Amino acid sequence: MIRLNSTVTDQCNFYGNTNPISLVNDFGSPLYVYNEGIIRERAREMKNLSTYKNFRVNYSAKANSSIALLQIVCSEGLDVEAMSAGEIAAELEAGFKPENILYISNNVSVDEMKFAIDKNVTISVDSLSQLEQYGRTNPGGRVAVRFNPGVGAGHHEKVVTGGSETKFGVNPEYAPEVKAIVEKYNLKLVGINHHIGSLFMDESPYLEGAANMFKLAVNFKDLEFVDLGGGFGVPYDKQGGEKRLDLKSLGAKLDAFINEFIKNYGKEIVVKIEPGRYISAESGVLLGRVHATKFNGPNKYVGTDLGMSTFLRPAMYDSVHNVEVYRESGSSDTALEEVTIVGNICETGDIVAKNLNLPKIVEGDVVGVLDAGAYGFVMSSNYNNRLRPAEVLIRENGQPILIRERDTIEGLLKPFKKITI
Ligand SMILES: *Cc1c(COP(=O)(O)O)cnc(C)c1O
Repeated sequence: MIRLNSTVTDQCNFYGNTNPISLVNDFGSPLYVYNEGIIRERAREMKNLSTYKNFRVNYSAKANSSIALLQIVCSEGLDVEAMSAGEIAAELEAGFKPENILYISNNVSVDEMKFAIDKNVTISVDSLSQLEQYGRTNPGGRVAVRFNPGVGAGHHEKVVTGGSETKFGVNPEYAPEVKAIVEKYNLKLVGINHHIGSLFMDESPYLEGAANMFKLAVNFKDLEFVDLGGGFGVPYDKQGGEKRLDLKSLGAKLDAFINEFIKNYGKEIVVKIEPGRYISAESGVLLGRVHATKFNGPNKYVGTDLGMSTFLRPAMYDSVHNVEVYRESGSSDTALEEVTIVGNICETGDIVAKNLNLPKIVEGDVVGVLDAGAYGFVMSSNYNNRLRPAEVLIRENGQPILIRERDTIEGLLKPFKKITI
């Protein structure tokens, strides 16, 4: 393989005993590739964020719910959070115990609540009406409530989940109503949680949110946990030298808040955080094959099989990802040119990355979209009747193994029922 620009993956030996060209030749394209060692490292960094003895990390599985990945996170001793019955099922399958799963529900049916209750999974509800529904469904049960203490943050307006412009959480001014419903159904309010939004690189909104939650928590006497949510950012512009989140500084400040809260509360209850992206994003690279290059006016387009059905983030969030270029054989000229990388879906917004300066790409090259391990495969779809890609894991011994099969045309057609014509 010719190394045209692969510095980021070279530096961490991302591909282990193999390389991206062999992976695509062996497993097909497009292909999500994950590195086990990186997942474990990030999980440990989160576990070590605080020195508080009852500090726990809930992995937010919506970032990446591949079962093998959940197994790795489980083996690192993390807890897990779920957003649907399907995620609960995947987490149980991966080996998590029900008591280590927190179901953060949002506008769910009675049946979905019952699914979690039957599995002994704690539910967090998101409104007074859902708390009433929980009370009617499981009187005397244990429940958590998601609050919205008014702080929001995120990389795009679509991922800010705190503050008055979002649908999430119960406004703290309704705390008396929460207490009343809890009493009415003889419930036990075991936890309160919140989530300010996804991807902060500056610690202050997170800390502000945590302080608000601790202030709120002292109003409730029987809590077993306070959950401060996720949103920990990762540097997406590694080629540009973007700095990592300063976990040391954040951890020290968080510790001070926790210690003060525990003193006020008088009980050493669990304090949780809930990172999704931080644990899985950097463990994943999305590989795709270049099938065409062309000019439309001054713009050079590189046409790949990485459509928005495979990778939605750039179209949905205008997200920016670094791209590497790999070549089996041919020119090793690394002179740069500006290109826009696009996919194979019939949509103008079907863009992987705009105006990148990359070595001159030719047909047959493989491109690697970095930091694609969170909100990557999980947001893929069959739009345009495209097949969702396979997923491969590079084990710690450097060997690649298949962890999810690529969709098939037969599988795609199977759910349909034909009618009589
Ligand atoms: C999405 C989500 C998370 C994880 O967010 P990240 O930005 O991936 O860390 C945590 N908690 C809740 C409630 C969420 O909705």
